[in-house]
Amino acid sequence: MVIYTDATVDRIPQLAALSPSLREEIQVAAKIFPFRVNNYVLDHLIDWESVPDDPIFCLVFPRRAMMAPEDFDDIKGLSRHGASHSVLQDRIRAIWDGMNPHPGGQLTLNRPKLDGKELSGIQHQYPQTVLFFPSEGQFCHSYCTFCFRWAQFVPSAMPKFGDRDISALTKYLRAQPAVTDLLFTGGDPMVMPTKRLERYMTPLLEDETLQHVSSIRIGTKALTFWPHRFLNDVDSDELMRLFDAIVGAGKHLAIMAHFNHPRELESELCRRAIKRIQSTGAVIRSQGPILRTVNDSPDIWTEMWNAQINLGVIPYYMFVERNTGPYKYFKVPLVRCLEIFQESFRCKNLSGLAKTVRGPVMSCSPGKVQIQDAAMLDGKPRFLMQFIQARDPQFALRTFTAELDPDACWISDLKHNADWPDVDFTD
Ligand SMILES: *Cc1c(COP(=O)(O)O)cnc(C)c1O
Repeated sequence: MVIYTDATVDRIPQLAALSPSLREEIQVAAKIFPFRVNNYVLDHLIDWESVPDDPIFCLVFPRRAMMAPEDFDDIKGLSRHGASHSVLQDRIRAIWDGMNPHPGGQLTLNRPKLDGKELSGIQHQYPQTVLFFPSEGQFCHSYCTFCFRWAQFVPSAMPKFGDRDISALTKYLRAQPAVTDLLFTGGDPMVMPTKRLERYMTPLLEDETLQHVSSIRIGTKALTFWPHRFLNDVDSDELMRLFDAIVGAGKHLAIMAHFNHPRELESELCRRAIKRIQSTGAVIRSQGPILRTVNDSPDIWTEMWNAQINLGVIPYYMFVERNTGPYKYFKVPLVRCLEIFQESFRCKNLSGLAKTVRGPVMSCSPGKVQIQDAAMLDGKPRFLMQFIQARDPQFALRTFTAELDPDACWISDLKHNADWPDVDFTD
């Protein structure tokens, strides 16, 4: 694998053919946003003829328009005039702090305690599902420009998730008999060597007192960014044996694959990786946000969901992009998100098997909210919404409404109606 980062961006062979101003733009923007891309993405996924508008290019290459013009000019000026490392870093850090690095109260809410001590690598929002952030999995094969977890990938004093301690995890799970699902997330746990992953998984398979954890999910973008992980890396065969063992132990193994565009599924390597994962008995489900410039059209979703169904991948969630990082660039108004979802859902040739997908969904601090429809109610256009998951399970399936604001891009942009649940939607 050949990896390029902000320090080596100018060595990417394909960039040589781009205009000098676009090259400089990428170099400056890559100082702000986490940047990392590998040869697979560059050689197999990006259509260089359509750059800069190519959707996969937008997915991994940060741009000027993703930040405030004055921030871009500042960093460009400082780099051009040879500012010291510390001056540059101070300015970059200030820009990060202004980009809402931890949306949804992620650093303060949902942090469980064990023996009075906060567990940094565990998030427990919904009673039945625990998120685990293994410390060795807190980066990705390539970074997405829109990532809502971007703050985890920048070297800074910001507190991060991540935990090496498997015994704290198993101890916590043992004390939580309601937990059925453990979700390995990151970053991307699939950047970890199989041996590491095995160390985390084995207690779950062997320990009698962890039988209640019956589903193991792994959130990953490796099918898009490095399908070799499942095919011909040095420890790919071992990884498949680990998946076999998880399924063999009677667990449901779900690979929660992040997909944003049908192009990702056209790759022969990706298709072979999907088949190989499925041969272990693991189930692949797909999720991803709606993003301006990448996938904000119903045709893209119909094509992507049909391609997934043909490959035996189950569409799971269509998300609304969260308010963090270059959110202003990627955000799509909720009305348009709903329109994209409904148009795709109503498309004559969308497979019925794709229609278990839920969208458009906002992951908010009190729960997951689906926009169900827009309709005239009491003489006014309104959104109909529903909690499909809630921190307080009593709220699940609760419906509520809001005045339809055509510019609103997140729940916090909407005016509360009288039927609004009594919970805090700050993010
Ligand atoms: C989405 C999410 C989950 C998983 O919810 P499901 O509806 O079971 O897929 C768990 N924890 C957090 C914090 C989430 O945002």
